[in-house]
Amino acid sequence: FRGQVTLDGPSGTGKSSVARAVATRLGASYLDTGAMYRAATVAVLDAGVDPEDAEAVARVVAGARIEVGTAADTERVEVDGTDVAVRIRGAEVTRNVSAVSAVPAVRRQLVDQQRSLVAAADAVVVEGRDIGTVVLPDATVKIYLTAAPEARAERRAAQLGLTTPDEVAELAADLRRRDEYDSSRADSPLRPAADAVVVDSTDLDREGVVDRVVELALT
Ligand code: C5P
Repeated sequence: FRGQVTLDGPSGTGKSSVARAVATRLGASYLDTGAMYRAATVAVLDAGVDPEDAEAVARVVAGARIEVGTAADTERVEVDGTDVAVRIRGAEVTRNVSAVSAVPAVRRQLVDQQRSLVAAADAVVVEGRDIGTVVLPDATVKIYLTAAPEARAERRAAQLGLTTPDEVAELAADLRRRDEYDSSRADSPLRPAADAVVVDSTDLDREGVVDRVVELALT
């Protein structure tokens, strides 16, 4: 395989594990753009500025060196040379990442960086929210991964070790809130590109989704 596979969709669809597995099967590089917005959020939190203060956020992120690896089998995420791969998955970052990623200057900066990283690869799988629509409108294959909100909340809950109906309901509410926030931005629509293939993972296991995406990439 040569070219670019974009994998967009809301959180909780199993997108990251699917994207990594697809990249491995295709012998392609892998770029997790969500990790870049999360790393930018670490920089903002460490600078002590209010994530809702768009001007301050833009200034901090402009001065931060955000580095992500593009190998499918290892995760490398650094801010100014410090490894933040574990921290970016924490609750504090997850709570604040939507506000940071809503700042237009932050998006411009990270989209530029994403395009340069992609340009360096012959074959690459790129996952995010706006890859097929904004970052790589001319990508070879565009996939939009969806799943019913309940299925997404249950998947998240299992990952986090939460089991009670209340905990799952709370996660579902949080997913809905993040979707709404992410899709309300004019510059980063949470919707499929016109030429994307929508894959619904509600009733498929991970291998089923990976098989489907690989098949689409190779045809
Ligand atoms: O995919 P992940 O859950 O790690 O993304 C974290 C957040 O980063 C999303 O909720 C969204 O606010 C933002 N994001 C974005 N554009 C992307 C990828 C992620 O705005 N391409």
